[in-house]
Amino acid sequence: MKMNMNQPWRIVGQGLAGTCLGMEFLERGIPFQIVDSGTGGSTRVAAGLINPLTGKNFQPSWLIGDFHSDAVDFFEKLGERFEVKLWHPMPVMRLAETEKEWLKISSKLDLPEVREWLDGERDEPTPEGFIHHVILRGGGWLDTRRFLDVTRNHFLKEGVLEIGDEKFGIADSSRILCEGAQGLMKDQLGSHRCAKGEIITVRAEWSEDYIKVGAGGWLIPIGQRLFRVGSTYEWNQLDELPTDAGLARITEIAKKLGGGDFQVVEHVAGIRPILRRSQPLIGKNAAGNWIFNGLGSKGSLYAPKMAAMLADWICDGIVPNADFVIESMKEIPL
Ligand SMILES: Cc1cc2nc3c(=O)[nH]c(=O)nc-3n(C[C@H](O)[C@H](O)[C@H](O)COP(=O)(O)OP(=O)(O)OC[C@H]3O[C@@H](n4cnc5c(N)ncnc54)[C@H](O)[C@@H]3O)c2cc1C
Repeated sequence: MKMNMNQPWRIVGQGLAGTCLGMEFLERGIPFQIVDSGTGGSTRVAAGLINPLTGKNFQPSWLIGDFHSDAVDFFEKLGERFEVKLWHPMPVMRLAETEKEWLKISSKLDLPEVREWLDGERDEPTPEGFIHHVILRGGGWLDTRRFLDVTRNHFLKEGVLEIGDEKFGIADSSRILCEGAQGLMKDQLGSHRCAKGEIITVRAEWSEDYIKVGAGGWLIPIGQRLFRVGSTYEWNQLDELPTDAGLARITEIAKKLGGGDFQVVEHVAGIRPILRRSQPLIGKNAAGNWIFNGLGSKGSLYAPKMAAMLADWICDGIVPNADFVIESMKEIPL
């Protein structure tokens, strides 16, 4: 199914989803306008971390092999184009605090899908407070704020960005809603599992060689003796307000991963747009709106390729694999 290419598309939201899609459209010469309320969104808060093996279970991220190189390429090329460093590759030190935790990690080290992300070349002492560690390759962080700022300026220069709230009336088949958690909380795609998260930025004299993951959180050196530390998960109070409880929890993580002596210079909160299976989706919802959402906790990894797939679908009629398609579109011929 090839779409009508004469209509200008209207992308709602300039977070990771809307920005990657807008850049795809610009690249392909597809007419569009992007509208963003300019009041925040989770991309501005996010740490932009890409960590190939994640969670308590030390699992490869969903389809990491399909998404990783596209994401890194996209952010590196964008950085070159705008002459700013957006993607910061950095090895990840995954730490275990207890024997039980180490057993879980070590039991997976021989699996081919895990082994390919291990960096066997580096030999480092395990930091105090932890019993073992492994070093991973393929990690790094996207400077999400700078990414939003340079692309926002570019969209403004191209005359394709409006700042304001999109007002909704009738469903419009030329709108593509990239509204993040704000959209999911309006029940755009039925039930969701959006989660609030808090992050602090600290100044400290710590080593800047590794992203550290352990103690239920992570610590990312972002240069000039600054480190971002996170994060919390909260499913009930879905607002963007930093809390004392969040600060206490992340301060604990910072002490364990970094050490003593640090000064908190920023404390922020945002809402992750999470769907049932924690996987991103594209397509039309039951109300007939095009949607690109569900980037979850891993927007940096998934946004670039999902945006390219949506552009292929809309422009060239190339239907994506059903895993990426919104449920209500699976039942109708695409
Ligand atoms: C604390 C925290 C830490 C995170 N850490 C990481 C991490 O380390 N790595 C990672 O990959 N991901 C991380 N994430 C997740 C990441 O932030 C998201 O996956 C991603 O940013 C979602 O992008 P989005 O474009 O879907 O939504 P958003 O970034 O929320 O963008 C949506 C935009 O749409 C605008 N909007 C909404 N409705 C309207 C409307 N009606 N009219 C106009 N504008 C509208 C909003 O203002 C916003 O600008 C984190 C998230 C949080 C909260």
